[in-house]
Amino acid sequence: MTHKERADLFLREQYHCSQVIFGAFAEDFDIDLKTAFKLSTCFGAGMRQGEVCGCISAALMVLGMAFGFYDAQNRELELYANKKTREFIEKFRERMDGDILCRDILAQDIRTVEDQEIIKQAGLILKKCPRAIHHSIEILEEMLAEHAQEMKKNEALIAEYESEMQELQKERQEKEALAKSSGEKNTDKWDLNILAGHDELQDIMKRNSRKHRFRRNVGELVYYSTKPIAFIQFDIRRFKIINDLYGERFGDEMLCFIIEKLKGLCNDRQYYLNLRSDVFMIVTEYESNEDLQSFIKKVDDSISSFRDISLQFSYGVYTVEDKNMELRQMEDRAAMARKAAKDNVITNILYYKEQFKELLYSRKFIEESMQSAIEERQFKMYLQPKYSIAKNQIVGAEALVRWIHPERGVISPNEFIPIIEENGYIREVDYFIWREAAEFIRRAEESGITDCPISVNVSRVHLQDNACKKELEEIIGQSGINKELLELEITETLDDQEISRKAYELKEEGFKLLMDDFGSGYSSLNILLETPFDVIKLDKKFIENMMVSEKGKLILEQVVMMANRLGLGLLAEGVETKEQVEVLRKIGCDLVQGYYYAKPMPADEFFELLQKNRISEK
Ligand code: C2E
Ligand code: CA
Ligand code: CA
Repeated sequence: MTHKERADLFLREQYHCSQVIFGAFAEDFDIDLKTAFKLSTCFGAGMRQGEVCGCISAALMVLGMAFGFYDAQNRELELYANKKTREFIEKFRERMDGDILCRDILAQDIRTVEDQEIIKQAGLILKKCPRAIHHSIEILEEMLAEHAQEMKKNEALIAEYESEMQELQKERQEKEALAKSSGEKNTDKWDLNILAGHDELQDIMKRNSRKHRFRRNVGELVYYSTKPIAFIQFDIRRFKIINDLYGERFGDEMLCFIIEKLKGLCNDRQYYLNLRSDVFMIVTEYESNEDLQSFIKKVDDSISSFRDISLQFSYGVYTVEDKNMELRQMEDRAAMARKAAKDNVITNILYYKEQFKELLYSRKFIEESMQSAIEERQFKMYLQPKYSIAKNQIVGAEALVRWIHPERGVISPNEFIPIIEENGYIREVDYFIWREAAEFIRRAEESGITDCPISVNVSRVHLQDNACKKELEEIIGQSGINKELLELEITETLDDQEISRKAYELKEEGFKLLMDDFGSGYSSLNILLETPFDVIKLDKKFIENMMVSEKGKLILEQVVMMANRLGLGLLAEGVETKEQVEVLRKIGCDLVQGYYYAKPMPADEFFELLQKNRISEK
């Protein structure tokens, strides 16, 4: 059935003109009729307030569906859609001999209920509206066909343009090489600069068209292929850090290297795209799961080292089950799997599971609730005591944040800290906990307990600039406490010069530094020698692993000895059993923190425990 035939049918069934037109095109956009009617009648009614004919409102909806503006990053699309809107109205005005308002088309006012009664009685809609409806449909059909043509032409142009740019690039490199070899600087500077500016602009254009072409190819592959299809999305682990350490230019070269490799690896039925920054996507057919696995391995092997550094990737894979699902949704599922793979320490390849959706929702939930959580003071400081095994005495505590959500209850820091480290809210949350910790120290001092340091966690985010030092100074100044009592726990994750330097500065300020999570991954014995820590906190997993074999116990013993020799304090975290306490005592690690002694508790509770502990000691 043609658009016009469908429209006539709806017209006879007495639908409004906006419903008639949008309904006639609904199928083109995979919209069911009921939704189409509901949408167009709302939109049409809104426009009618301005007396604009329903044909126009529905036609604009059709145009919006075809090439509307939906991506805030893509302002070009917005301009394009605006242009098309104006074009439609002009054409419509022309064919309707200037009548584009309902009142003019019907030769009757439409605003009041009485007006509408007259229209009905006189059967004006069936008499006057078909002309406007038919003109609208004709114009829309023309415009959509034209659009398809334009897209084709654009692609050809861009392909032509790409090869032209490659030529220019080659020419430029030759010029640069020539300038270098002849010892001259900036030969043809003007020429080179012009090209540089040109590149940037065209890059945006090229990227958009590449995305478009990728999606079209992928759409065809999914639709026509009889084999199973997989969406593989991957990114570089710690890309930001590599960028920071080696510079952006190095990062860019690395991305080019990956693209070149993919070009060589993928055949003409395997499509790849650099979605943004360090995120890539490959869509491929495959024969069996083993086949898919070995393809991913092949990709991984060929890109796993660039220059002298070895790269690690996180892969998320979605194997298509329902080919009718929207492409975007398939991409999203691969993206969810990739994000889950990022947090996984066991494997770097994960296949999509339904649970990932929940994970993503919880991430979204956390991001969206953070501001109100801060405003409504939903964060609380809990304290977990640290004990001396020999004295059976509390020697301090660690401050741990708890998010007490009014509906969801207590949310674990492991769930929200990594997310707020990315979006910057970590500063506010940590500063709050540091203040609470300082306040607790002051309160303990006032009651005569002056030897109970509280350690706070310092996310590595803070060690990137000077804001944290200023904040700490302010906190110390306002609370008037002894600096040494507010201890700072820092997790050393990489040999990062900048972070070590910042840590030194804090140490010089007079703060005591605790190295958190020692033995959990990145930290090495080297770090002990190089960084200025006062105390090492042995990670729970490290202790667990070490306890299970005689050899492990020996290593643990060596670490304890080494710390003693270097004059470093040592504290074992996550101590849960009597057996662990015994082993630690024997090898000379006296300080412990863990459920065996006490779980983290609200500050008031800890205050009572501390007072009791001090009284029993006397
Ligand atoms: P962390 O700094 O290593 O903190 C120790 C974690 O181990 C705490 O988990 C604590 O409750 C838990 N724990 C202590 N003893 C035991 C035990 O015997 N058995 C077991 N299974 N667990 C034990 P929590 O409070 O869930 O915190 C998790 C992580 O979140 C912390 O690890 C820390 O990295 C981060 N975090 C917590 N509070 C803050 C904060 O205020 N700021 C920042 N930046 N990070 C925080
Ligand atoms: Ca800690
Ligand atoms: Ca720890």
